[in-house]
Amino acid sequence: MIKTNLLFFLFSIVSVVTLVAQTEKEKIQQIETQKQIDKQRKLTTKLDSAIRLSEEGQYEQADAKFKAVLKEIRSVPTDLTYHFGKNSFLLGKYKQSVDWLTKYVQLKGTSGQYSEAAVGWLSQAEGELIKEKEREAKLASEVLSSDFTIDCGPTGKVACTICKGSTVVVKKNYFGDTYSTCQYCHKLGYLTCEEYNMLLKGKLKPSTE
Ligand SMILES: [Zn+2]
Repeated sequence: MIKTNLLFFLFSIVSVVTLVAQTEKEKIQQIETQKQIDKQRKLTTKLDSAIRLSEEGQYEQADAKFKAVLKEIRSVPTDLTYHFGKNSFLLGKYKQSVDWLTKYVQLKGTSGQYSEAAVGWLSQAEGELIKEKEREAKLASEVLSSDFTIDCGPTGKVACTICKGSTVVVKKNYFGDTYSTCQYCHKLGYLTCEEYNMLLKGKLKPSTE
């Protein structure tokens, strides 16, 4: 009889301890869940305000907000790919725009809330991206004089292009003209061929005297 009572007593203690531990665990879980919900709510608010900024034409600010949201989430909601892609286009970031809008179209096909709009923006962004690449290719193929050394002829000098040979530089300001000595040609009015070539390449430094 005594033995049974003791056993029962021990069993009760174990049960109580287990129960307390369980409610503790539940509490922690509840707190965690609440934290997640709060975080989600804050992100949604941030995302909504990013979309609003974009609609109001504040593309830079919207871009910063979208990026802040993207930093905090592990999986990106599909709608965000549309809004961020569209805002990127309006900002002139065509590569970024094509990238995100393509995601939306891949995920939603033609059945998404923004499918039609996404396809429209995407084709515009792709068009701009092609133009951009053409411009870059053209720039890369342009031959510029600054890539070469210019032969200044037998005199080996050139009239100073800063002061036009006068050794004086005139600056206009509120109170009229101010005159100062040209800082490039050492009061000579001309540049040596070496100096001239350095000037063309943006490497000729003004003298400080
Ligand atoms: Zn000069």
